[in-house]
Amino acid sequence: MSVASLAPADLLAHSRLLDSVAAFTHHRDTDALDRSLVLSLAELASARSVSLAKCGIDRCPRVESIVQCAPDAQGNYQLQVFGAGAADPAMARLSRCMESQEVHAEMLGGVPRLIVPILCEGRAIGALQLDSGMPLSASRPLVDGFARIYANYTALLSESERDKLTGLYNRRNFERHLQRLLRQREQVQQAADPGARHGDTSPPVGTQVWLAIFDIDHFKRINDSYGHIYGDEVILLLAQQMRASFRQNDVLFRFGGEEFVILFGATDETTVHAVLERFRRHIAEHAFPQVGHITVSIGYARIGTHDYPATVLDRADKALYFAKENGRNSTHGYESLSRRGVLGRAMAAGTIDLF
Ligand code: GH3
Ligand code: MG
Ligand code: MG
Repeated sequence: MSVASLAPADLLAHSRLLDSVAAFTHHRDTDALDRSLVLSLAELASARSVSLAKCGIDRCPRVESIVQCAPDAQGNYQLQVFGAGAADPAMARLSRCMESQEVHAEMLGGVPRLIVPILCEGRAIGALQLDSGMPLSASRPLVDGFARIYANYTALLSESERDKLTGLYNRRNFERHLQRLLRQREQVQQAADPGARHGDTSPPVGTQVWLAIFDIDHFKRINDSYGHIYGDEVILLLAQQMRASFRQNDVLFRFGGEEFVILFGATDETTVHAVLERFRRHIAEHAFPQVGHITVSIGYARIGTHDYPATVLDRADKALYFAKENGRNSTHGYESLSRRGVLGRAMAAGTIDLF
């Protein structure tokens, strides 16, 4: 049917649909995209609730988070985000859909419920659930269409956010990730009622956010001795070791060349140091194919709520520089070095390019 032959009411419905799609694909970061998707779908379908489940990049088909949208008592749509540990019943339903990659439809107290997998190159990257008064014959094409557009757009966004070799985040969205972690921590600390945190993806109360920078020691020698291809392979394998060593909520970046950054929550400096030292030792002991053993130097710093990202990077970089100047293959924290008064004038110039 051509557009010209549509009745005015149909044209209006089509233009509302296009508006919704334009609204949610307007976003350039995945968090905003997720929220906008569920809100657009909820408004368009006058939904009782819409839930979007997502898995992490390496963790398909396990649900890592759910964004849910439902009307409050005044009928205004409100958004909630649940982490993987949440006891919400949607978690199991959406997980099953992602695992089976099959559409599930049922009636729930007279309300049709539809759950569709979000597929990208044969993998379920998420699932979308709609509870609305719409008959399933009408909601199915709508939810299917949203799921397909979301999958395509997510793939594009994800490509632009990630380093091609390792799949870790690139530094493009570093500030956004940092602001999000700080925001989460602030919300957690403001929540007077600990019960309100149930299912939250944030680190526990009292947790501080930390930034660490790793740099492979004498990496030039690896390139010189074995060639660039083997150098690249070391970078790739190191990134895999990082993924295996750090927790799901830790945010890992390849910042450039053989430099990596990690943002993570921990309650105190002793814990941070222990975690990073364990990783450093693990890398030193790991046998990399062909090149054998490599080492990394690590610098870290605490992130205060009002710190500029460039300031924190600079501090962690000074600690890394100290490690490089003092034998490499070691871990140093900016706060501890400052307390010891060993960050002299030599520290004035770090190694990393700031923003
Ligand atoms: P240091 O212990 O002081 O860090 O010594 P280094 O040799 O690792 O230090 P430097 O930063 O001077 O050299 C890093 C080298 O990493 C230079 C560059 O040739 C190489 N490099 C940067 N990016 C890549 C990459 O993507 N692949 C490969 N194979 N090598 C890279
Ligand atoms: Mg370097
Ligand atoms: Mg290096």
